[in-house]
Amino acid sequence: MLAISEQYKKQANFIGGEWVNADSGETLDVNNPATGEIIGTIPKSGKAETRRAIEAAQAAFLTFRKISALDRSKMLRRLHDVIMDNQESLAQLLSMEQGKSLFEARGEVGMSAAYVLWYAEEARRTYGDVVPSPWADRRILVTKEPVGVVAAITPWNFPASMLARKIGPAIAAGCTIVAKPATQTPYSGLAWGLLAEEAGIPAGVVNIVTGSASEIGGEITKNPLVRKITFTGSTEVGKLLLKQAAGTVKKVSMELGGNAPFLVFNDADLERAVEGAIAAKFRNSGQTCVCTNRFLVQSKIYNKFVERLAEASDALKVGNGMDEGTQQGPLIDMNAVESVESMIEDAVKKGGKVVAGGKRHSLGGSFFEPTVIANAKARMRFTKEEIFGPIAPVYKFKSEEEAIDLANNTLFGLACYFYTQDLGRAYRVMEGLKYGLVGVNEGVITTVEAPFGGMKESGLGKEGGHQGIEDYLDTKYVCIGGLGM
Ligand code: NAP
Repeated sequence: MLAISEQYKKQANFIGGEWVNADSGETLDVNNPATGEIIGTIPKSGKAETRRAIEAAQAAFLTFRKISALDRSKMLRRLHDVIMDNQESLAQLLSMEQGKSLFEARGEVGMSAAYVLWYAEEARRTYGDVVPSPWADRRILVTKEPVGVVAAITPWNFPASMLARKIGPAIAAGCTIVAKPATQTPYSGLAWGLLAEEAGIPAGVVNIVTGSASEIGGEITKNPLVRKITFTGSTEVGKLLLKQAAGTVKKVSMELGGNAPFLVFNDADLERAVEGAIAAKFRNSGQTCVCTNRFLVQSKIYNKFVERLAEASDALKVGNGMDEGTQQGPLIDMNAVESVESMIEDAVKKGGKVVAGGKRHSLGGSFFEPTVIANAKARMRFTKEEIFGPIAPVYKFKSEEEAIDLANNTLFGLACYFYTQDLGRAYRVMEGLKYGLVGVNEGVITTVEAPFGGMKESGLGKEGGHQGIEDYLDTKYVCIGGLGM
């Protein structure tokens, strides 16, 4: 019998309902970041395989678009049930390839199922309009229809749920999809092929290719059959895809990088703020786009906050994500460790004080200590750069206006958080912050019912909420004339 984590580990690509290898037969290795072990291989596909996946998706679209909204909704409900029936197996696979704790992996798989269920419900509500006509003998209808073939590219930090937020609305809208998961965490992406088969989703509706990012991305952006690209990843790659997609004027959704501020005012509930800070910083070892990048703390509460945050960081249990009780797993690879180290070195050189952690963990490999740096200053690199690791820099501010200015002083605009018990301040600060997601006295706020997405260079479009299906739909205006009234 297969180990539970192996049940959904598929080492092939999924094209037109068939499990296939790369044309060349070439493969890429996949590692477990906690142990360094090679846990399997995936096909190194490129242009030709991607083109075939797009053609399979287009062929499937011609019939899938005619399936009723109710039937698509039922398919998504079955998909939700298959995910939840296999939550443990999918969570173990995710933890094994990504490193996050089993607790977080179970949560991510549960969240994936929740997105699918939400879009099963939204599939039935893609309403159009009947608009009062300025002409007595004509009528105006506004209808919504699926855009067609959608291409999805996803990152390694949430390999299951980032695809759920794309596959769910695509199927709900009547689109078909070609997905390219991140090379470091491909199995949670390929698992969607098995899940789709089990849920009875027709062949060709979901296709998944792995391999050369530039070849797959090049074909996706050039191919005129692809009508929409949905990307989650770095701002750098997002900008490249935007440029490439301009040639065929595709619809685009971009969920890109962040530089989240976390503001703590003198009147905050300190213990609640520290609890929120730990969740908003160290979740997934600091490797999420909504992780706090900068703690901004008002002067009177500054010392106490730093002390409590350092204590709480020191108490986090670091270990293999597969061991029950682990709170922080390894970083994704040694490049990530080096990047975190160089940011700490830069901060210390410029006057930062390490008050918790600060170095590689004694477990070795890519494990790193949860780190808190007091006396953070604007000149330090993490003021502008996304950390994507377990470092919590703490800056000091004096006034509310200064805090809002500092928080907004970035090219990014994804998530932000602030803690205050003053209702007037809560409204002023909330309205002053230029961010797509705002947590007021809460450090973890993502939920399927609400629109997730950034402002400024953090992206375009929304995922989740009723807004999340809009980008998968084209709006059509129909004028019916000659009614002779
Ligand atoms: P990344 O380097 O941009 O990679 C993301 C995906 O893009 C991967 O599948 C990658 O493939 C692919 N890719 C890379 N170069 C490409 C190219 N030239 N053409 C087409 N595809 C290409 O990002 P990452 O390091 O995986 O993820 C971290 C970033 O994602 C952070 O900046 C984080 O903030 C952001 N993120 C944003 C959100 C959000 O919702 N806003 C959520 C999660 C993460 P390979 O794996 O094969 O290189």
